[in-house]
Order: sequence, then structure tokens, then C-alpha cells
Amino acid sequence: MIEVSNLVKDYGNHHAVKDISFTVDDGQIVGLLGPNGAGKSTTMNIMTGYISATSGTVKIGGCDILEEPIQAKKLIGYLPELPPLYEDMTVGEYLSFVCDLKGIRKKEDKIAAVTEVEEAVKITEVKGRLIKNLSKGYKQRVGLAQALIGNPPLLILDEPTVGLDPNQIIEIRSLIKSLAGKHTIILSSHILSEVNAICDYVLIIDKGILVAEDTPENLSRHFADKNRILLSIKGERTQVEEALEASLYLESFEITSEHDDIIDVTAESSSEKDVRDELFFEFADKKLPIVKMETENLSLEDVFLKLTGQDIDEMQNEENESQEEDQEGDGK
Ligand code: ATP
Repeated sequence: MIEVSNLVKDYGNHHAVKDISFTVDDGQIVGLLGPNGAGKSTTMNIMTGYISATSGTVKIGGCDILEEPIQAKKLIGYLPELPPLYEDMTVGEYLSFVCDLKGIRKKEDKIAAVTEVEEAVKITEVKGRLIKNLSKGYKQRVGLAQALIGNPPLLILDEPTVGLDPNQIIEIRSLIKSLAGKHTIILSSHILSEVNAICDYVLIIDKGILVAEDTPENLSRHFADKNRILLSIKGERTQVEEALEASLYLESFEITSEHDDIIDVTAESSSEKDVRDELFFEFADKKLPIVKMETENLSLEDVFLKLTGQDIDEMQNEENESQEEDQEGDGK
């Protein structure tokens, strides 16, 4: 359904997208995951023909988005990060207007198309209301409805849950899941749990580069061959550090705390096998008692953190803070 090849987008000297290639098969739900500024919206804007690429090609259903834009765009329903809503129209008027734009002109076809999407995204009860008076969650549903008009086989959804409250997020996510099977879907998000919950394939992009792609399960499994080891070692910090540095079985380590002669360490093993026995004898040789040792596999959160250097919680906090600032600003 989608074939993106060697996509590059430069804004002056700034390289927003650097040679990204991927394919999306019919019926897949794919998540484009990355921190703020990774290049998700830029990639989606190029895929929909909204902006042009510096180089590279995008094919939708075999049609090049630049060479056969009309055929390619007929296959796409697009929900941009800011839904293109005319706030002074009622929901019904707006969706009827979108039908005009998409070439659905006959009165009965229009009524059928609008009724179908209103039912699909559960906005029938607000169809007579002005868009500007709707809650953010309902506005997002109307945005989804306009993308669905004409029943396009491909939906491109840019951060579909951004700025919504937790209840609205759950509703929109389940709405998107309910569209699976009828459409191929590519959605962008910086929320890993969201992509994990909705998507069957993940593309992780960072600083304009595709850094990993696979199913959520395989991504976790692939990185899970590195074991994380939590150690508490009795001894002086310098002795413990020397032993950790000399260890044959540890790839990296970090001292996380120090209390009552006990040094807490988080380390990663360089081996796929369980190295707890070897570590025990290594530290025993140096007369440094290990008083606690645990291993754990990397979660998908850890994978994201390793690949992008971004902490999901930090990103979420930053976003919450900026939303609070926006709200304070609105109140002034
Ligand atoms: P976010 O989640 O914050 O929207 P994103 O992954 O969608 O992030 P993009 O909006 O694609 O990221 O931006 C990628 C980079 O390109 C960023 O560094 C951004 O500042 C830059 N950029 C985007 N649009 C423009 C523009 N019109 N002119 C200059 N730079 C731009």
C-alpha cells in the first residue's frame, strides 16, 4: 500500500528527514514512533503530497504521489496534527462540504457517506452542532470522520490523540482499532504505549533517521538479548568501580546509589546467557561480596530510550507542562 524510498527533506541547512525508506502492506496498522522533532509530521506531509520531498519517492497503491497525485490521493484519508475543521460550520455541513471536495456530489451519495462516517466515529448526536462548540475529543472525531469520507483504503493519522484527556485518548484509540481490517493505517505518535496498544508494526524514527523497525514483540525480543543486571556490592566505591571495569561479563555499568558501604549498580551484560554465576565468582575473587543480584530484560520503553536517548516519562512530563502553560495562557 505504501512504498517510501530514500526520502530526504531539507529545510535550508536543517535535515528534517535523512534517507528514510519503508513499506507498509495492505491491512497493516503501522506506528511511526519518535520523539518531538524526529521528522514524523514531515514524513507524513510528504506521503500525502502536502509538501514535496527534497529527494526520494513515495508510492501509494503503486501511484507516485508527485507523478500521479490524483490517483494516489484518492486512496488516502488524512488526519493532520491540526485537523482542518471549519469551526463555524455544523458537523453535518462540514462533512457534506468534505464530500464535495472528494467528488461525492449526488445528494443521496452524500447523505449515505456522511451518515456512514458519523456512525463509524459515533458523532451522530452532535451532527447539528457548530464545530467550535465541541470538546477537543469530539473535534478529533470529526477530524477522523473527514478522513474517512469516501472510504479510502489508507488512513494517515498524525498524532491522533495529542492534546486529549485520558478518557478521550482511550475512546480515539479504540475507534482507530475498530477501523483496522477495513483500512491500512499509519499513525504517528511519541507515546510508546499507544503504538504498542494499537499497531502491529513499528517504525522508530529519530533525528530524521529510521533507527529500527519491527513488530513490538520482536523489538523487545531483539533487545532483550542484553540482560540488565541490578547489583548491590559491599565495599569501597573505588574498589567496586575497578572490579566493574575489569569484569569480563559486563558491557556497561552505572553506580546508582551508595549507602552504608553498599554500592548499588545497574549494569548490562555483554553476553546473551545468564552470567550471574560468573559474576559471583569474579567478585568473590576480589573479596567483594555481592549482597543482591537480579536480572531483567529490556522492555519496549527501554528499547525506545536506547535508540532515541529520550525518556518517555520525561517527554510526557514536558508535554503536560507545555499543555498547562497553554491553558494558563488561554486563561489570561
Ligand atoms: P512533533 O511530534 O514535535 O510534531 P515531528 O516528529 O512531527 O515532531 P517534524 O514536525 O516533522 O517532527 O519536524 C522535524 C524537524 O524539521 C524539526 O526539527 C522541525 O523543527 C523541522 N521543521 C519542520 N517543519 C519545518 C519548516 N517548515 N521549516 C523549517 N524547519 C521545519
